[in-house]
Amino acid sequence: TRPAGRFFHIVSGLCAPLTLADFEAINLCKRPLPENFNFAGDVLDQWSQKEKTGERPANPALWWVNGKGDEVKWSFGELGSLSRKAANVLTKSCGLERGDRVAVVLPRIPEWWLVNVACMRAGLVFIPGTTQLTAKDMLYRLQASKAKCVVASEEVIPAVEAIASECPHLKAKLQVSPHSRQGWLSLQELLQAASEEHSCVETASQEPTAIYFTSGTTGFPKMALHSHSSLGIGCTITGRYWLDLKSSDVIWSTSDTGWIKAAICAFFTPWLYGACVFVHQMSRFDTDIFLDTLSTYPITTLCSVPTVYRMLVQKDLKRYKFKKLQHCTTSGEPMNSEVLEQWKMQTGLDLHEGYGQTETGVICVSGRGDKIKPGSMGKPVPPQDVQIIDENGHILPPGKEGDIAVRLTSTRPFYLFSKYEDNPEKTAAVMRGNFYLTGDRGVMDSDGYFWFVGRADDVIITSGYRIGPFEVENALMEHPAVVETAVVSSPDPVRGEVVKAFVVLSAPFKSSNPEELILELQAHVKKSTAPYKYPRKVEFVQQLPKTPTGKIKRDLLRDREWGRT
Ligand code: ATP
Ligand code: MG
Repeated sequence: TRPAGRFFHIVSGLCAPLTLADFEAINLCKRPLPENFNFAGDVLDQWSQKEKTGERPANPALWWVNGKGDEVKWSFGELGSLSRKAANVLTKSCGLERGDRVAVVLPRIPEWWLVNVACMRAGLVFIPGTTQLTAKDMLYRLQASKAKCVVASEEVIPAVEAIASECPHLKAKLQVSPHSRQGWLSLQELLQAASEEHSCVETASQEPTAIYFTSGTTGFPKMALHSHSSLGIGCTITGRYWLDLKSSDVIWSTSDTGWIKAAICAFFTPWLYGACVFVHQMSRFDTDIFLDTLSTYPITTLCSVPTVYRMLVQKDLKRYKFKKLQHCTTSGEPMNSEVLEQWKMQTGLDLHEGYGQTETGVICVSGRGDKIKPGSMGKPVPPQDVQIIDENGHILPPGKEGDIAVRLTSTRPFYLFSKYEDNPEKTAAVMRGNFYLTGDRGVMDSDGYFWFVGRADDVIITSGYRIGPFEVENALMEHPAVVETAVVSSPDPVRGEVVKAFVVLSAPFKSSNPEELILELQAHVKKSTAPYKYPRKVEFVQQLPKTPTGKIKRDLLRDREWGRT
């Protein structure tokens, strides 16, 4: 352990605090990964120091609002002292030891950030989960992860109560709630009594820091194990190229706390750059509240998902004056070019797309200063060596569709997830030669931009053609009748499988004659893209099935079409 607030490192025999330039050099493999790294001690405590000396602007580290008049602002110094107390709560009151796992299932409340930092300080492995988890989901996660402690809020306490007896590893339950409850410790109460004296554990760079469950878009969520350095140092270049952050920025990432996107865009990357993390605890998505928030607070950087932008561009955005907004990003799903162009037209702002995974973090981006090609996910973020490969692991030339893969050096790079926990078969299955397979299909153009075709499982094969759902969806989205759409394969007695589009209609088209509208949409797709891709079947629906992250679950629609449960 080391004294709090000190951050000395032995790199090449030198004792010095690591700087952003060092992290960048480590990312670019120009400097070795230090043996030890801890984000709390090596990054957050440095900003806390810089706050004291006036080397950082006076904006908060965390700025939380709930839309009901409540507000919390923490400086890095306050985050430091509170998280040291929280680390003592976890180790002393909950009896946890280094390496123990802690499921943190909280909504977007300051305690989520606090507990995560506390876990790092104490060398505990945190496992975020969304509060939308049901008792069954919770059981799966607690059993699979062997969590020793769960930190939960009112929303999920009943789900934990229902299954806790079936989780033999669980020994402490910590609640974030104003009510006292039998069998539960109270974080708020314990924090008041806790000591601020805590020495940040000297964790190894490659030691586990977190387990993230994937979104579960295509089946049971997998447990991706991340190390202290994978995101803690690995997000440095993303921060510069994609999020374009500096310490005076205020970044609002709308992701649920359960997903890696929150870790990347609302935790590691902003704090690497000393920026302010803005949080709005919106219990449900509301376009008016969303747009008011951008108009009221000095948010400079917005990170959201395509679903949100698709809803926002349905509004008259010209009516709003966003206070400070300069930089907008999207990730998690393909962004339709139509939405990107509407956003630009209405707000004057570009939408910078990022592509990544729970396993890899962000690997391709439309960075600041790059020419944005609508519909493309941009270019690889160094040091990621992203390639399109064939089934034998050979790199394909530009223009050829194949598997999107990351080329690895002889040793597993630190910025990649370490493994799927307790699943050596799955961990091995995502390797092909010295490539890590993303499971997605794509094409690289001659400028080095990557274009998403679809998840490998979502590609439709009809009459000998391979059709990626995204291109068809993109064409449909250009039509004013379409708010959202999902394209999947559907059985056909002659062709084997055909393209089917599920379409959510915009308000003015809801009363249209359905047969005529289907013909119009089909004609539109035939004009916009190669005609063989047009959806032979179209079904209008009120909404599309989605994961709690807001991703369209095409596999569910496809299974329904094929009569599979
Ligand atoms: P699971 O692996 O459990 O099925 P998931 O793949 O949705 O779930 P995540 O790791 O959250 O879990 O999502 C990563 C996937 O999201 C990528 O592999 C890709 O399919 C999709 N994705 C992310 N960003 C983009 C993007 N910009 N364009 C297209 N697809 C994207
Ligand atoms: Mg996946």
